[in-house]
Amino acid sequence: MMTVDLRSDTVTKPTPGMLEAMWSAKVGDDVFGEDETVNTLETKLAGIFGMEAGLFCPSGTMTNQIAIKCFTQPLDELIADQASHVYRYEGGGIAFNSAVSTRLLHGDRGRITAEIIEPEINAENVHYPRTSLVVLENTVNKGGGSCYTLEDIKPIAALCSAKGLKLHLDGARIFNALTRTGDSASDYGQYFDGISVCLSKGLGAPVGSVLLASKETIKYGRRVRKVLGGGMRQAGFLAAAGIYALDNHIERLKIDHAHAALLAEALKGHSWVKNVLPADTNLVLFDTHEPAEKILAKLLEKGIKANSTDTHRIRFVTHLDINQEMVAYVIGALA
Ligand SMILES: *Cc1c(COP(=O)(O)O)cnc(C)c1O
Repeated sequence: MMTVDLRSDTVTKPTPGMLEAMWSAKVGDDVFGEDETVNTLETKLAGIFGMEAGLFCPSGTMTNQIAIKCFTQPLDELIADQASHVYRYEGGGIAFNSAVSTRLLHGDRGRITAEIIEPEINAENVHYPRTSLVVLENTVNKGGGSCYTLEDIKPIAALCSAKGLKLHLDGARIFNALTRTGDSASDYGQYFDGISVCLSKGLGAPVGSVLLASKETIKYGRRVRKVLGGGMRQAGFLAAAGIYALDNHIERLKIDHAHAALLAEALKGHSWVKNVLPADTNLVLFDTHEPAEKILAKLLEKGIKANSTDTHRIRFVTHLDINQEMVAYVIGALA
């Protein structure tokens, strides 16, 4: 029986080429700023997005939390969609790390607009927390991989700039969004104060995320990273995997998207499936008539691993370690 792991795009293992790049990395003590592979990764990714500097961190949670700390003061408020990772899946870190409250909006599959943000910006008044930051997510994880185009983002950036708010992008799957929309990464930098990019999701590196921002923000962010325990030493072995991923695993994301589309199409044909969300990128969310747990158990009997995101909602994630044969096998098993 075949085993197919559709739980997350984080389950990928380094490829032989990636391992080779890791073995041969030139390393040093990154807390001293002496790991040249880490420095190369930070500079390279900042260049790709048209931003000044980068900060390599162990996780996307850390890059997001550092950004929030950099862009707010205690007692401030940030605005984000209710589905956002920074709010739902970072352990309450916004309040814990930054002493900031969160104003939640109800967007379209996690996507918010300038129109719905503007009325939620607090006026200057001693009763209200000071609104200082807007956080967007692209693609939206809980939205089923829904994405913003740059045209969607421009009015939000203009509003933030007019109101003196910072704008951060949780771009854990930004390359999936760029693959889908055709927008270019280099155009992104001008619209955001911070961008977080995950190397361990669709790109297939074992560990790591990079925060991109201005030199000044990254200088302070480096202090915050140290406080959070994220100052790593010979981290170049990990950064090398990230560089390899940027060079080799972006182009192929369209394969993951095609696989997701095939799975979504196949799901639509089955009576036990209630509803399938549009599979815009590499995430397929679908609702089931029976409890998700029951369906997941049946899938597991056939060697197919997946997760539920709600009592009656299942998520399939396609990634580097899912090939055409596996997709065909899953489609057969769904019947
Ligand atoms: C995975 C993910 C992160 C970061 O998660 P880590 O597991 O901490 O690396 C951040 N945002 C989104 C949208 C994610 O899917």
